[in-house]
Amino acid sequence: MVIWNLSRIEELIVQKGIAQGREASNIAGWIWEECLGLARMTSHTFDAKFDSKIGAILNRLEAGEPVQYIAGHAWFYGLKFNVTPAVLIPRPETEELVEWIYTEWKNTETEIRILDIGTGSGCIAITLKSLLGKKAKVIGIDISTDALQIAMNNAKHLNQEVEFRLHDFLEEGFRGLGEFDIIVSNPPYVDTKANTSILEKLRFEPSVALFPQGPDVNIFYKKIAAEGMEALKKEGACYVELNEFNAREIKEIFLRSGWKESKVQNDLQGLPRMLKAIK
Ligand code: GLN
Repeated sequence: MVIWNLSRIEELIVQKGIAQGREASNIAGWIWEECLGLARMTSHTFDAKFDSKIGAILNRLEAGEPVQYIAGHAWFYGLKFNVTPAVLIPRPETEELVEWIYTEWKNTETEIRILDIGTGSGCIAITLKSLLGKKAKVIGIDISTDALQIAMNNAKHLNQEVEFRLHDFLEEGFRGLGEFDIIVSNPPYVDTKANTSILEKLRFEPSVALFPQGPDVNIFYKKIAAEGMEALKKEGACYVELNEFNAREIKEIFLRSGWKESKVQNDLQGLPRMLKAIK
């Protein structure tokens, strides 16, 4: 019988070289609360079976697996999303993209039709629906049936009515989807040529969500810029997350495709990470 608490787990994390300092304490918190469902400041006496449970979690972390996959969920904009390796783990910068859209549309009284391209866990689509409420009609599309399954489960347990559809955007574009007030996307945009070490860091997440196939890293933005205006209503807007290295180029892609305005916005870290285009 051993007494376990948060600090004991934190010590092990440091000892095993998984993380240090504040990061170690964050991860310990995740294990204690999110993986084991225990209250933060408590101590518990567990038998040897528990040691192996903790051991297994620590081994997975040592191998570099994100703690959200181990816990099976991630937090996004205050909502709890189920995640598996079939979907990207929701990121804080994407919360900022959602915040931007919400701020600009919260006072709209009429129906708001929203398309989320490459919806993954559904975090953008479902959060926008929960924030904007009844007036929002949201469709999330994805090329991965496994991802759509997760998205549908998330919509169900978060009690949000969102339509999810299997749709190969690069192949089919906006065909058959209808007209929208908001087009939003966090497409695959990681450039493996520019940054090869990133492959190691992201190896547990689905490559289809991270890396554009083929030589053109901006292929999704080009397709959205080329065909999105037709799918967008007159006063509509398109919002995309992007990589700080490509922000300027993507802004130009939209302008060259004839969009009236294309505006890059910085995230809280001061990096250009999102863009809004209007027609
Ligand atoms: N933000 C993710 C990362 O850099 C990438 C997400 C994406 O490709 N859409 O890890």
